[in-house]
Amino acid sequence: MKENAHVTFYESVLSSFDKAAALTDLPKGMLAQIRECNSIYQMRFPVKIGNTYEVIEAYRVQHSQHRNPTKGGIRFSHLVGQEEVMALATLMTFKCALVDVPFGGAKGGVKISPRNYTPDQLEKITRRYTTELIRKNFIGPGLDVPAPDYGTGPREMAWILDTYNTFKVGDIDGLACVTGKPITQGGIRGRTEATGRGVYYGLRELLLQKDEMSELGLSPGISGKRLVIQGLGNVGSYTGTISQEEGGAIIVGVSEMEGTIYNKDGIDIVKLMRFRRDTGSIMNFPGTTALANREDWVSLDCDILVPAALESQIHQGNAHSIKAKIIAEAANGPVTSKAEEILLEMGVVILPDMYLNAGGVTVSYFEWLKNLSHMRFGRMEKRFNQNTYSSLVDLVAKTTGKVIGEKERNLIARGADEIDLVRSGLEETMISSFYQIKDVKTKRKKIKDYRVAAFITALDKIASDYTNMGIFP
Ligand code: NAD
Repeated sequence: MKENAHVTFYESVLSSFDKAAALTDLPKGMLAQIRECNSIYQMRFPVKIGNTYEVIEAYRVQHSQHRNPTKGGIRFSHLVGQEEVMALATLMTFKCALVDVPFGGAKGGVKISPRNYTPDQLEKITRRYTTELIRKNFIGPGLDVPAPDYGTGPREMAWILDTYNTFKVGDIDGLACVTGKPITQGGIRGRTEATGRGVYYGLRELLLQKDEMSELGLSPGISGKRLVIQGLGNVGSYTGTISQEEGGAIIVGVSEMEGTIYNKDGIDIVKLMRFRRDTGSIMNFPGTTALANREDWVSLDCDILVPAALESQIHQGNAHSIKAKIIAEAANGPVTSKAEEILLEMGVVILPDMYLNAGGVTVSYFEWLKNLSHMRFGRMEKRFNQNTYSSLVDLVAKTTGKVIGEKERNLIARGADEIDLVRSGLEETMISSFYQIKDVKTKRKKIKDYRVAAFITALDKIASDYTNMGIFP
């Protein structure tokens, strides 16, 4: 997607990398190696749709194999192109390093608009794409592990798994060839919500920084903050729901394909999603006003903009009109590098994609580990913990002479289920990564923004991997 000054998404990613690289003293050769995409598989394959054959254009890009397997989602969109997939694969390498997920970065893309195909046709395309990946060793538990992205979800991941298993009979770790699967097919509880939940944890942490919030003229805490969300798909819907229900945030605006709606007093996101399911649109949701121009979501009066659709949505043509103090990049690459220069000048804080939407790959990592261990998280310790805590509650009741009610007992005397452990691991990852980035931002004087700080945090880890391998000592 191009903007006025023809800055592509990939150019924006490379420009951020170059800015960060210039602030490190890493060897030039190492930086050059880290910057480039290692393997690019561009494919064309025929699929019979109705009575004719369509030639489908698709990609898988492995940006870095400094850690294996490589990992990254698969996007179905008519806007998919090689450069876009390269940009997304590059981001994945830094995202994984940043949140200590031991994978290299990759991404896949199929240039189709899913709306134009029936589920049967989508299944055919997905299976054929997977076959191409198998033929070239671009998929496998130790090679390259796809996941959902824009336009794909658990259904597509189930088709990928089944196709892989058909060809790789007897591969005991076959389940780990793809993540984001349905629970019944080796998926993990909490994966579908993971990216949105991670966005919530990251945003909540930023909003707890008293000094920064006072510089922005905002009170600390997410409660009562006014959010505008673009894109009510997987990431946007969970970010909205969790921010509203667990954080007390107010969603004042929502932008979707069909238009943008606003209500300064708040839009109940759960009811809105039900309304959209029933009517097929967010428009005319009771209590809201429709904007004349869908694209004007960027200039709505709010505290935080949450772009959760596609890249390059905030560009130099609309950046000046932004009233929000914070941009929470739930989508990948929603702010172009030109727009970022303008926004930083305006004092807007940007929480970068590489950090903020890393919840998806974090929980995908948990799913991959679950598949390799062939056991659900919590199975071994749940009852043991529950019994131990229960004895402890009995002891406290006995020694204090107090009666501990059923409600309190159930709260304390319980062992963790898979979903509890997944959420706990995700929360820990998002919080500890936030402070790693913040530490770099605070300690290195020349770094003024979270994106460069996040790139440098990740770069240092990747560089240390190369050094440990004995390459570029
Ligand atoms: P999705 O397909 O589930 O949802 C995207 C939504 O955005 C759709 O509802 C679509 O109608 C809407 N949309 C598209 N263009 C729009 C526009 N111009 N204006 C308003 N709405 C528009 O996709 P997703 O999985 O939620 O991914 C969204 C973004 O998050 C992408 O950038 C993706 O790379 C990124 N991301 C996704 C995950 C994940 O786990 N799914 C993980 C990390 C990052």
